[in-house]
Amino acid sequence: MLNQEITSRLKLTALQKKALQEAHLIYFRDVVLDYPLRYEDHTKVTAIQDLNDGEPALIWAKVVRATTQSGKGREILKATIQDDSGEYAQITHFNFYPALLNAFQAGRSLILYGKPKWDNFRQIYDFSHPKITWLDDAQIPQLPTTITPIYWGDKIKPALRNKILEAFFNEEALHQPFSAQLTGDCPDYAHYSFAEALQIIHSPKDLNVIPLAKKRIALEELLNHRQALLLKRLTRENQEAVPLPKQALVEEILANLPYQLTAGQKSALWEIQGDLSQNRPMFRLLQGDVGAGKTVVALLACVQAIANGKQAVLLVPTEILAEQHYASAEKLFGTKIQTVLLTGKNKKALPEIENGTAQLIIGTHAVFQEKVQYHDLALMVIDEQHRFGVAQREHLQHKAKQHLHQLVMTATPIPRSLAQTQFGDLALSVIGELPPNRLPIITTLLPAERREALIRRVGVNCRNGRQAYWICPLIEDQAESNKQNVQRTINQLTEALPDLKIAQIHGQTPQAERQAIMNDFKNGEIQILVSTTVIEVGVDVANASLILIEHAERFGLAQLHQLRGRVGRGTEQSYCVLIYQQPLTEIAETRLQLMTETQDGFRLAEADLSLRGAGDLLGENQSGEALFYAVEFPRDEPLLDDLKKINILPEYQLALSQRWQKNTMTENT
Ligand code: ADP
Ligand code: MG
Repeated sequence: MLNQEITSRLKLTALQKKALQEAHLIYFRDVVLDYPLRYEDHTKVTAIQDLNDGEPALIWAKVVRATTQSGKGREILKATIQDDSGEYAQITHFNFYPALLNAFQAGRSLILYGKPKWDNFRQIYDFSHPKITWLDDAQIPQLPTTITPIYWGDKIKPALRNKILEAFFNEEALHQPFSAQLTGDCPDYAHYSFAEALQIIHSPKDLNVIPLAKKRIALEELLNHRQALLLKRLTRENQEAVPLPKQALVEEILANLPYQLTAGQKSALWEIQGDLSQNRPMFRLLQGDVGAGKTVVALLACVQAIANGKQAVLLVPTEILAEQHYASAEKLFGTKIQTVLLTGKNKKALPEIENGTAQLIIGTHAVFQEKVQYHDLALMVIDEQHRFGVAQREHLQHKAKQHLHQLVMTATPIPRSLAQTQFGDLALSVIGELPPNRLPIITTLLPAERREALIRRVGVNCRNGRQAYWICPLIEDQAESNKQNVQRTINQLTEALPDLKIAQIHGQTPQAERQAIMNDFKNGEIQILVSTTVIEVGVDVANASLILIEHAERFGLAQLHQLRGRVGRGTEQSYCVLIYQQPLTEIAETRLQLMTETQDGFRLAEADLSLRGAGDLLGENQSGEALFYAVEFPRDEPLLDDLKKINILPEYQLALSQRWQKNTMTENT
């Protein structure tokens, strides 16, 4: 219903259809759940003598006089008005057409809405650029009876918006009190019906109840989400999967590791091993901060599947990461396990994957492709889960003969609210510590003007055996400028530091060249690697201890944290320099400052959530799936507690899911 197309239920004129199209309003939800940005109260007139500083008000007054003054090279319009109370107020326009000055004829009546500011010098309230409606001489103003909602961008006319809302409200079910459909300890705002709550939001009579109405809608969406997750979990619990009990090979490989697993790694592995032994599919999220050592745990899970005679696939978001994991696996397993690489450009392994000689397949999106036939796939591991959509996971499932065991990994620490909602149907393992002997990375901020001095300092450090990443920002959809960006930096660096070996990689660097460069960097033959964010996730070169990030203000905190996580992987002191372009917005400054204060990915993620919203954090942009329409974190975090106390009555379950159900196939396949 919310997800029905507006035009499928409503007869509209060609003009109206065009207006909707241009505003990208297609489904009812686009209008119904598009809440006003703010509200203006035009329902009552305030006397000038009753004005309060900074409090928006509607004034009914007459023009006394209007003049222009020159100030700071431009003309300013100043008008004085007076209302029935006999008090005066002042109107100021900094930019105006001559017609406006003409409109201010002495004695003319007007209605004005705006925010008064007390002018202490003149002892008068001043309205800067107020909304003005001119009245005829004896005209009594017709005031609206409801508060006026102001929508973002004012995309469509109020009449059309109301028509759509009315059509939506036609359904009787929308007028039932919510609490009548619930059991348990209902919060008081739950008594509003769906329609009632939306009416409060779109045409309120009282501003104070709007937050309650918003909670009401959000609670319902959360309830529906919980129900959908539960259904998914139930379905999965009834699915059969091949049990993959623990085998000696796992111990054998563990014993050959050059280090001891941390306590967190051990318990995560133990939990995964337990899941794999079941005849129900595992569905587990492995969370651990950047550098916590998730890869080895994932590889050991793969070993367990393989030791049971099955295939395992490790899916990663970038080719660089695939190549790197492939190298780690080769080193770890030697000849004990047949590992292959499968990327868009490298498909040599297809026959081995099909005939089963390939046991561990490490690859990018290529692993989903039509041509790829698996011999006997039983485990799917997804690294950096936020880069993939649900649909893609399911795609791989279709290629297997039986239900797959699934392990998804993320280094983006997920705030509680999101974890519960986004991953409510996954079991969770957390690696809570970093491997021992890691020093905290020292992070500093530097304005771009001091770049040259920085380059000299980097040079000194690299001559002393350090290696550095130099990150240039990615400009979306502009492959050309990205190359130029990187090229410009390369030129500057090579000119300033002719004795050092400097190389570059970006999204378009051919695979063979990139592999060679990464290898040289790993072996210390390249001192400075200039790169776009292609190295953002996962790249692991323990000897690199310096990372410089240009235009740091353009990145999200989670992303900066990921980038910074490229260093601090060895035992040497590492440094991260965030280079920023002045002037910084207040938010940007807060964010960058926080980067210097903490290395706790969890805190950074929480901050990102409140500063930038959930979309950025979960990488919705990549997967294209909006999780919620009416719920907003962190604002709605307290609702999760209310949600725990209630349940929907069975007879209303269907109606609830139909109301919120998405019409797209991806969710249900
Ligand atoms: P992430 O969790 O970010 O994916 P990685 O798996 O890339 O982290 O591991 C980071 C680095 O730490 C790797 O070089 C890895 O070899 C090393 N490492 C992993 N576990 C341990 C451990 N228990 N002790 C020491 N080093 C470890
Ligand atoms: Mg990793």
